[in-house]
Amino acid sequence: MPQRLETESRKLLGRLREALAADNEGQARLDEVVGLIADSMGTEVCSIYLFRDADTLELCATMGLQPEAVHQTRMRLGEGLVGRTAKSRTVINTADAPSSKGFRYMPETGEERFSSFCGVPIQRLGDVLGVLVVQSKDAREYTPDEIYALEIVAMVIAEMTELGAFVGEGAALSARHQKPVMLRGSVAQEGATEGIVYLHEPRVVVTNPISEDPERETTRLREAINNLRAGVDDMLLSANSVDADQVQVLETYRMFANSSSWLRRMEEDVQNGLSAEAAVEKEQSLARARMSKAADPYLRERLHDLDDLSNRLLRILTGQGAEARADMPENPILVARNIGPGELLEYGKKIKGIVLEEGSVGSHAAIVARAWAIPLIINAKGVTSEALNGDRILVDGEQGIAHLRPDETVQAAFRDKIDMQTRAQERYASIRDLPAQAKCGTVISLQMNAGLIADLPSLAGSGAEGVGLFRTELQFLVRSQMPRRAELSALYSRVFKAADGKRVAFRTLDIGSDKVLPYMKPNDEPNPAMGWRAIRVGLDKPGVLRMQLQAFLRAANGRPLAVMFPFVAQISEFRAARTEMDKAIEREIKLGHPIPEKIEVGAMLETPSLAFAPDIFFEEVDFVSIGGNDLKQFFFAADRENERVRKRYDTLDVSFLAFLGQVVKRCADSNTPLSFCGEDAGRPVEALCFAALGFRTLSMRPASVGPVKHLLRRVNLDEVKAVMDEAIARGDQSVRRAVSDWLVYQV
Ligand code: PEP
Ligand code: MG
Repeated sequence: MPQRLETESRKLLGRLREALAADNEGQARLDEVVGLIADSMGTEVCSIYLFRDADTLELCATMGLQPEAVHQTRMRLGEGLVGRTAKSRTVINTADAPSSKGFRYMPETGEERFSSFCGVPIQRLGDVLGVLVVQSKDAREYTPDEIYALEIVAMVIAEMTELGAFVGEGAALSARHQKPVMLRGSVAQEGATEGIVYLHEPRVVVTNPISEDPERETTRLREAINNLRAGVDDMLLSANSVDADQVQVLETYRMFANSSSWLRRMEEDVQNGLSAEAAVEKEQSLARARMSKAADPYLRERLHDLDDLSNRLLRILTGQGAEARADMPENPILVARNIGPGELLEYGKKIKGIVLEEGSVGSHAAIVARAWAIPLIINAKGVTSEALNGDRILVDGEQGIAHLRPDETVQAAFRDKIDMQTRAQERYASIRDLPAQAKCGTVISLQMNAGLIADLPSLAGSGAEGVGLFRTELQFLVRSQMPRRAELSALYSRVFKAADGKRVAFRTLDIGSDKVLPYMKPNDEPNPAMGWRAIRVGLDKPGVLRMQLQAFLRAANGRPLAVMFPFVAQISEFRAARTEMDKAIEREIKLGHPIPEKIEVGAMLETPSLAFAPDIFFEEVDFVSIGGNDLKQFFFAADRENERVRKRYDTLDVSFLAFLGQVVKRCADSNTPLSFCGEDAGRPVEALCFAALGFRTLSMRPASVGPVKHLLRRVNLDEVKAVMDEAIARGDQSVRRAVSDWLVYQV
């Protein structure tokens, strides 16, 4: 940043500070602000648009447009260049506004006279509050330095808006915050719980966005950073070194806290007139804006780690938050946009439930929550803006629903539900050690899906007979670098140990699609779910696959081993993968290491093509496991991550069942053990139908084992099959209705 502009922007901030300190009322203050920005920047127009409601922006102050347009001109989010700036959360800078995409002529403002336009979002911590606009008659684009200055000013305006310095919008908000709201998200950890909202970020209030003394602010910032780094180091020291996942998470943290570019950017902002707090918030806002756009879930998680650190830094600088923690309610339900694992670890197990606006099942925080069995709902859109500290909230971690400020009826129904669940849990516990034997005598083996060491205690608790799917990629996803073979084999031996003799089907790495490893070269694919993923990567770049196979063999240390390959679409892929396994075994024999007393090598059937493989495939493969989540998406050509199309097709659709029936038959003809390990296996009615179709092994979330077993033990599978056949003969689209109706009289 050239020296001259540095002083310009500092000067502008200085003038802004004076304007804000003066004894002006809201509107007069806002008018003064636009006046002095236009003056300092040498533009004919400067306007501020703020949100009137979630969808509407209103011109709140202007210098240069018609004064009568103030509080009259409104536009919807996305409408016109102003609306587009707010929607895209990015700067729109054009020399020829009237012919730019999205330009909307507003006659009342007289703005057609202005050719150049630069809109900068006014945002605070990821929330867009409005748009700051400058316009000029001459056709020119604003320079990066000018935009930088505008961004700094926008940041200050955001802070002041938040403090209510301009307009009193609070009244409308508080009315909204009294109504009951139901928010839908997705389940990341099951369980039902009720409690009191405890906001993770009780909005740190920055009262001094502009500094008078950049040198002093730089010192404050550096001291705070040192403090932060020391805090992260302490956390690392006290982290349980046995829990490799937790340590990995904190290592990533340390990497960010020591990032010199992060500190440099903040120091630059401080040199340009922002206070240390405002500089941290500016970086944080930018990170949040990037976060909302990042398609890659891993990147989103990393950006979130950075967000987490910024919050800590703000708390250190302002001294706020520490006291806020003190008044944590009795049954706190943590509500946050997202939460970093470090923060969650700090809260500890006193948290009763968590509702996140964002988040993902594979996130570090979700991993921690699962390890502690705290009900967790993710993707509950709107929860951070709807919830206030102290609100009552019900967390339904079965349906993925949060009821905020529920009325009496909802509360009563929810408590009944919790009671019922408690009773059901007792019932499930009482059958935990009994077989899942249907009335006809058929026994189904119920297994559980896992991915982390932390999942394994559920093996004993749920009554699962083994781990039908161990998703090994989760271990790779929580790391910041490729694990070494020794680490992997140590980890897998812990899995063997925790499984205590029960069978674990290890699935080799299934990366690609939505699971992207940061330390592997990213692939820009138009359709990653159908792209270079899973076994395709494993065979084309066999280094990791070989390392994994060797790690399994070493970890087994002579014990029986089951390994399966994900996403096998044709026999040649299976054969090539099996050859890798054979080679790995040979290598171990040569090295004199013990070889498992039994090795099963299986394939996951996740694409319809494999169901039509030559007979010899079914003879060669030791077992087949249906990955129903992927299989269903490819069978119906309906993206599993797109709720709109996913819900359209029922798993109990007769076409899908007919297809599954064929797989059952082919496996039966060749005596190949078959299991189903997608999410659907854990839904009781689906599980029943699968069992009636001939599946003898189902693998599911641990919490589903009890309910599925309970239902299976109460029915005769021949009768279920008869009901299904009748529905099919009748021409029903799905057998769900028929089976559910029939069940009403059975259980
Ligand atoms: C599946 O596709 O059903 C499966 C079990 O694998 P994942 O959900 O990990 O893709
Ligand atoms: Mg899959």
